[in-house]
Amino acid sequence: MRFHRHFLLACLLAIVISCQQNSAPSPAAPSLGVATNPAAAWSYEQVIDESAWGTAFPDCIGQNQSPINIITTPNAPAPVGSAPQLSYQSSSFSVVNNGHTIQFNADDNKNYVMFNGDKYTLRQFHLHAPGEHHVQNASYDMELHLVHQNANGQYLVLGVLMQVPTGPAPNTTSDFATVWSEALQLESGPATCLDGLLNPSGLLPTTNTVYEYDGSLTTPPCSEAVNWFVFSSPVQISQANKEGFLALIGANNREIQPLNNRTIYILPGI
Ligand SMILES: [Zn+2]
Repeated sequence: MRFHRHFLLACLLAIVISCQQNSAPSPAAPSLGVATNPAAAWSYEQVIDESAWGTAFPDCIGQNQSPINIITTPNAPAPVGSAPQLSYQSSSFSVVNNGHTIQFNADDNKNYVMFNGDKYTLRQFHLHAPGEHHVQNASYDMELHLVHQNANGQYLVLGVLMQVPTGPAPNTTSDFATVWSEALQLESGPATCLDGLLNPSGLLPTTNTVYEYDGSLTTPPCSEAVNWFVFSSPVQISQANKEGFLALIGANNREIQPLNNRTIYILPGI
């Protein structure tokens, strides 16, 4: 029996090690400012709650914070410069429950977005419930953030709104099926290898008019100069997906921040 248990443990270690060995070298995935002891550093309601983030993290009371209520008018200006070009493919990820969210870290640099001549590499994607951005005052059940970074450490984030439909449970892509099957069983702890490959393009809505604005990380340290692109159409999720995430993580959405002097642009598609 003891040998059996040791054998299983050895197999488990071998799987973890081989997963790491198969991964191409990649910069550490940013965890949106939770580099050390994340669970104790801040929260939405404990230790340093959201209303006090600005005391410990001065950027959190800046003028260009996220999320925002996206209000557009028929005369919204056309964006200056070119639309981002997405280059995604099936890739290897690890997944972690860091106490603030479920986060999928890219194991390599295969996925990227070209924007204004810069290459922004996908580092990680993660989930929020309820959704963080509002659109025309409407809130959503959840939101997915795909976080990219360029060589200078600047961010580009794609936001995907998620909604539970009123009718039957939605059909979903195999990539989302992988996300939910991994995310909803993960207790807090170290990152584990994702079972199988995942293509981030399978996480995007098919109708893809996009809102563009300059914002920030929505978690401490709330760094600004983040290029935000929020898809106008939500993807559908099931009630079980939403409830499973809330049971595991709890509500992890930041309050809506003032727009101040920012412009929201509308892109016909990316
Ligand atoms: Zn986020």
